Amino acid sequence: MELYSGYINKLIEELAALPGIGSKSAQRLAFHLINMPQDRVERLAAAIVDAKANVRYCKECYTLTDREVCPVCASQNRNHKLIMVVENTRDLAAYEKTGRYEGVYHVLHGAISPMLGIGPGDIKLKELMARLHEEVEEVIIATNSSLEGETTAMYISKMIKPVGIRVTRIASGVPVGGDLEYIDEVTLLRALEGRVEL
Ligand code: ZN
Repeated sequence: MELYSGYINKLIEELAALPGIGSKSAQRLAFHLINMPQDRVERLAAAIVDAKANVRYCKECYTLTDREVCPVCASQNRNHKLIMVVENTRDLAAYEKTGRYEGVYHVLHGAISPMLGIGPGDIKLKELMARLHEEVEEVIIATNSSLEGETTAMYISKMIKPVGIRVTRIASGVPVGGDLEYIDEVTLLRALEGRVEL
């Protein structure tokens, strides 16, 4: 016997497939959506479709943007000789919020994880290598202090060293396994200022 309408079941199924949403939350959200005014549901649906249609990777740093080149890469006021490597756009946003970092970024969109079957070819590493020309003075590795983040940092360091560019790692004052986006600005700045040579 079908407890709910097939339409509701479909909605629950789609919501439950999102990260961090279990079947209970999916049910709760589905019923919430059904009870929302029609115009709000349409705004939500349009926001999802529009974001998907318009957001892409910056062609220099690979962060998510709705322009060809993101505002950070396009800025003349940033130091383009300093590249900070982060795992995702949320980490980039965390550093941008401090308002104190003057370089540019490179967004990997993930970290190496043999356990999850994510190898070096699955994140934006060759795109990082392609950006390293003579003018680049330093690459700051700001991946998370999780096992995956550390593995990725080691891999990048070994990859860049032969090129002769300075490679540094943000200080490990950052809590182990802590996602950069949840760490306060003071801790982020301290981690950046205390970065060590790799
Ligand atoms: Zn960019």
